[in-house]
Amino acid sequence: MKFTKLSDKDLYALCKEYGQKARFWRRRFAGLLPEVERRGLYRRRRCGSIYEFAAKLAGMSKESVDTVLRVARKLEDKPQLKELLESGAQSWTKLERVAYVATHETDGDWADRVVTLPQIALKVLVQNSRLETAVDRNFQPEKTTVEFETFPRLASKFNQLKKRADFNEVLEEFLEMLEAREEARKPQAVSTHSRHIPVAIEQFVRERTNDLCAFPTCTKPGTSLHHTQRWALENIHDPDRLHLLCTDHERLAHQGYIENEELPPEHWRLRNYPAERGAASLIDELVNVHRGG
Ligand SMILES: [Zn+2]
Repeated sequence: MKFTKLSDKDLYALCKEYGQKARFWRRRFAGLLPEVERRGLYRRRRCGSIYEFAAKLAGMSKESVDTVLRVARKLEDKPQLKELLESGAQSWTKLERVAYVATHETDGDWADRVVTLPQIALKVLVQNSRLETAVDRNFQPEKTTVEFETFPRLASKFNQLKKRADFNEVLEEFLEMLEAREEARKPQAVSTHSRHIPVAIEQFVRERTNDLCAFPTCTKPGTSLHHTQRWALENIHDPDRLHLLCTDHERLAHQGYIENEELPPEHWRLRNYPAERGAASLIDELVNVHRGG
């Protein structure tokens, strides 16, 4: 083979292709290990341990072997996830993420998520599902604490203010005033066949979250403007229904994981299961296909 004659582009393409195949076959090899261990096959092949066996045959590290066997044990009663491990279809790091939250009953749902969501979005969902089991999602405390940073001089004023008996009413009035002011400077929704979002609307939406993702508690930079009403259905750019999202939350939104998406972001929360498939999600699917996602 004359690699010296390849262009940079072709050389890189080969690296990518072989790298992908190498990863796939490594995963397939790893998928065999639980059965090898069960039979103790490595002993009959003159290996002192399964680690030696895996290192000799596939150059696998002890750490990876441990992970694979641990994940396999966790997936024993979850046939669909187990199949993803054994077939080498998915990486064991990705499967390990969900191995501890998935149950026999939710096996299929988690298997779907592992296949369709990127690692990072999966991580968000796993964290969410851990929180869900820890707290009752419908529980609403009567009062809660808010923390924010401000200038010392404002902080002293605020600390005095909160002693007032009618503090909560004052706060409510202040927030309503702020909303009214925001409403007054909000650009009009634009009905158009152009996908291009008018500059004034984009600026308004970005300023609303200071260029950060609009999902509550998310502090990542916003990377794309997301139409919550599905632009392709209505052809309207509406500042109330346009929100800046980070890549993870945009992905989750397109997969139907954001509940109350049509309401302002303070009402959003993550679903454990994607929404029913309607016209909107069909369009999302097309968007995903178009993106190659
Ligand atoms: Zn986000």
